[in-house]
Amino acid sequence: MDWLDKAFAAAGAAAWGGAAFSDLAGRMSPAARAEAERLCPRPRTVLAAAFPYYAGDRPGNLSLYARGADYHAVVARRLNTVCEVLIEKYPEESFFPAADSSPLPEREAAWRAGIGLRGMNGLLILPPYGTYVFLGTILTGAALDLPARPPAPDCPNCGACRAACPAGALEAGGPEASRCLSELTQRKGALTAEEEARLRAHPLIWGCDICQRACPYNAAPARSPLPEFSAGLVDRLGPADLAGLTNRTFRDKYGDRAFAWRGPGPLRRNLSLKEE
Ligand code: SF4
Ligand code: SF4
Repeated sequence: MDWLDKAFAAAGAAAWGGAAFSDLAGRMSPAARAEAERLCPRPRTVLAAAFPYYAGDRPGNLSLYARGADYHAVVARRLNTVCEVLIEKYPEESFFPAADSSPLPEREAAWRAGIGLRGMNGLLILPPYGTYVFLGTILTGAALDLPARPPAPDCPNCGACRAACPAGALEAGGPEASRCLSELTQRKGALTAEEEARLRAHPLIWGCDICQRACPYNAAPARSPLPEFSAGLVDRLGPADLAGLTNRTFRDKYGDRAFAWRGPGPLRRNLSLKEE
């Protein structure tokens, strides 16, 4: 499908592919399946695409994924351009783009679509970008004639990510969100003394890149060609950046960033723990 190759390339995707919804349904909860069917009655096909975001190993206290523009909006906007092409070809059909906000298991979809390897750290690996890619999907009821691309193998399970994780969150063979420091940095409200101690020892105030940095596929990742993820970056936040901001003025200042969705509270708390 040359025209889809061109449409995804024009949208900035480094790779794309498709999977049958029926192959993903077994990996979804009943609630997720119901939500997908509410969005798209008779879902048949899931297109998946990967968008690189690595912009170099710059010092900072935010996870690399959160330094550029909010990927939810960027990826959805870019996928929308693909949907416009699809609608021209299939005017009777509907197409639903999403990034990290749909009931679909994105990593599974991308893996089944043949885009990259399934990493033991829970992320998709797409050489030469490593795990530094955002995934997006387009759900449709259209029966597209997709190129047959078998899923790539799983990663070699070298164990470097598991050994590097300071939280033991990869011990069970995959990520355990309840232990993960990335989840903890984003949690609202009061933390236990033990959780505060873990954040104090953590180098970032938002997210965690430790298992990604340890992965050999990320030893020399290719940089993102996409301007939203490679220019105008916010590498670091300090107390002065957040001083005096209300929820509203925080959103005015940082609302286009992926670290903004919880408001200023968790960022202020995490910063204050570093100062104690
Ligand atoms: S993001 Fe950090 S805490 Fe979470 S699994 Fe990776 S290394 Fe462990
Ligand atoms: S560090 Fe090793 S085990 Fe972990 S995702 Fe990378 S290749 Fe797989």
